[in-house]
Amino acid sequence: MRKIIIAIDGFSSCGKSTLAKDLAKKLHYRYMDSGAMYRAVTYYLMTHKIDYTEIEKVKEALQHIHIDFHFNKETKNSDTYLNDVNVEEKIRGMDVSQHVSNVSTIKEVRYAMVAQQKKMGKQKAIVMDGRDIGTAVFPDADLKLFMTANHEIRAQRRFKELQAKGEDVTMDEVVQNLAERDHIDSTRKESPLMQAEDAIVLDNSHLTKEAQMEFVYNLVMEKKLMEESVE
Ligand code: C5P
Repeated sequence: MRKIIIAIDGFSSCGKSTLAKDLAKKLHYRYMDSGAMYRAVTYYLMTHKIDYTEIEKVKEALQHIHIDFHFNKETKNSDTYLNDVNVEEKIRGMDVSQHVSNVSTIKEVRYAMVAQQKKMGKQKAIVMDGRDIGTAVFPDADLKLFMTANHEIRAQRRFKELQAKGEDVTMDEVVQNLAERDHIDSTRKESPLMQAEDAIVLDNSHLTKEAQMEFVYNLVMEKKLMEESVE
């Protein structure tokens, strides 16, 4: 069967990465978490005490930032590495979440990340999730999904996730962080979060993981068959 590119975009904590990961596994495709890259850049700036509003310093820092992903045999996940150090746990905390959307508005940061993401898509057979995958990274993706979910449900999911990791956070902080990130992500100048014209909307507020997978898997199968019959 022909290999395709699947782009999954949407608001924060909509379950994009869970679905993208499971789908990649089922299709034997690679999974790419583009958000992890913006988180890793943010983490680098924070740990090097670089103020993200000082663009020249950010540009210089980008020269020293190398991000890649390695499979973790224990968790069966792909972990994020920043300059050869596993930062998977560190980039998921609230402190990084509080700054990542501001860092992601910086044009130079986006150019650097998008260039790397495009390279990863060269061989196709990839599921990538983020905010601008269907609009900027892979505007020609074979299948584009735009995920959304009810605010409260998203906040609950994120809160539980952080609690499970032992993070000291309140529900109010989570609600506020999600609202703030959605706002910054959707209103920034450079490739804002928006639904691509040809994206299919998936509201998963009341859908089980299995139902979401069935919905998307059917779309993938349709897409693959359609493209084969065109060739
Ligand atoms: O996906 P995740 O919530 O981990 O992404 C963290 C942040 O990274 C988002 O809130 C957004 O500001 C930024 N991001 C982005 N473009 C992407 C993926 C993530 O701007 N493609």
